[in-house]
Amino acid sequence: MTKKIRSVKQVSKMDSILKCPLCKSSMKVVDFKSLICSQKHTFDFTKQGYVNLMPHPSNSNYNKELFEARHNIIMARNLYDPIHETVTNVIQEYTTTFPHPLMVVDLGCGEGSHLQKIMNRFISTKMVGVGLDISKEGIIMASKRYEKPIWLVGNLAKAPLDDNSFHVILNILSPSNYKEFKRILVQDGLLIKVVPRPNYLKEMRKDLFDHHRKKDYKNDETALLFKRHFHLLDIFNLHYTKTLNKAELKYLVQMTPLAWTADQARIDAYINRDSAEITVDLDILVGVNK
Ligand SMILES: [Zn+2]
Repeated sequence: MTKKIRSVKQVSKMDSILKCPLCKSSMKVVDFKSLICSQKHTFDFTKQGYVNLMPHPSNSNYNKELFEARHNIIMARNLYDPIHETVTNVIQEYTTTFPHPLMVVDLGCGEGSHLQKIMNRFISTKMVGVGLDISKEGIIMASKRYEKPIWLVGNLAKAPLDDNSFHVILNILSPSNYKEFKRILVQDGLLIKVVPRPNYLKEMRKDLFDHHRKKDYKNDETALLFKRHFHLLDIFNLHYTKTLNKAELKYLVQMTPLAWTADQARIDAYINRDSAEITVDLDILVGVNK
């Protein structure tokens, strides 16, 4: 079975979760190749299995190099494994009474590695994972590597997803649109948002900019905004350090947009060493849609 057909079959079983990005009407899989809405707007499955549901192509600064670097850091170096472990535990703990299959969407999934890692850890197989990102480059990479989730190119601020269609939203180091999140989630559905804290990647920021600017990752306002829209159930602070080797330091700089503004000579000096410690300092906010 080709990737395209596998994906068509998977989406056919649950096409009610999708809605047309142009006219918001419902969509159906037609002829084993397209999603078509009631107004006949048509979106084809690609050979990699993903569907592009952007009404117009977007310009994203996030390129192949960034996603490849992210993939390496997440999958090979396992830098975020404690995050994946906590997120998986939260899903399992809070969704025991939810119906199956458990519908989980990662909004702003990039090249999909976080979602894949979380799905790999999930004990129950009755979970449907959907990854949505505005970057076609990211979704192409995700659909080439990971077969389990459904991959969609789309805008999370105008998500091509139906009302009340998901039990869990993941939003990992990505922008939010709380109004959309509330619309997409079922009542009592969970929003799990991962945000950086002031010491996140502090060693790298200190070496690239002299001082690690705490305001870069100031997250008080993020937490306040979160609480304005969602009832906060829990916050987990994960703080740990890992040692990265030379190749991994280069990936780290490539995957961190903040680092791109640094002076090239300083970037070269930072990555031209055998190894360095790096701090991960993140909050996992868990909210419920009341
Ligand atoms: Zn339409």
